[in-house]
This record gives sequence, C-alpha cells and structure tokens, in this order.
Amino acid sequence: MMRRQEQLVKRLLQATEQMVQGGLSETSRRCGNPNCICRRDPNRLHGPHLYITYRKDAKSCSLYVPPEHAKTARRAQQAWAAFWKIGCSLAALNREQLRRQWQQEKKTRTAVPRRSVPRD
Ligand SMILES: [Zn+2]
Repeated sequence: MMRRQEQLVKRLLQATEQMVQGGLSETSRRCGNPNCICRRDPNRLHGPHLYITYRKDAKSCSLYVPPEHAKTARRAQQAWAAFWKIGCSLAALNREQLRRQWQQEKKTRTAVPRRSVPRD
C-alpha cells in the first residue's frame, strides 16, 4: 500500500473510536407547565438543549445530550465528519490507482503483440 494510504487508514481507525453518525442541533423550547415564564416570554425558553440528530429506517431521530457531555458529543460528531472526509480521500486515491492501472494495461496491450497460441 502507498504511504499516503497507510496514513489515511491510520487516521480512519482513530476516527472510528469516537465517531457517532449524525449532526448536532440545538433547540430551545417551552415546557409543559402553563404557569412557567417560558409560556409568556419567548426570550425565556428552556435551553438551548443539544441533540445528536440522525436517521434510522428513513426516520429522523435524536439523542438528547446532557450538558456535561456536550464536549463528548461534539468530538463524536467531528470524528464522524473526519471519518467521512478520510474515506472520500481514500476512495479518490483508489480511483487514481485504477486509472493508472487501466492506462498501463492499455499501453501494454497495444505495445506487445499477441503471442500466437500453439494449436494441436
Ligand atoms: Zn417552562
């Protein structure tokens, strides 16, 4: 394997340790208490609360992130983004390798005349 690919695979593996598929979203909302200030003042909503959002079986889902774990959630999302980016870089390298390989094969085919097949 090429040196560049080895480095990318190493980084890809690092990303897999923390990555969580999805995005992050922050929302502020009203609670269920009709006497709460959030019912009267739109500036006093609860939150913002952080969620990891993702799709499962074509449905949108979210995982609530407790405030003390916000850093972990952000790292997990960054790891997922990195995994995706590194995967695309590896795929591009593989494509270039195929291109070179196929070009080389084409040159070899046209340059070397076919050997005659012995018949019996
Ligand atoms: Zn409230």
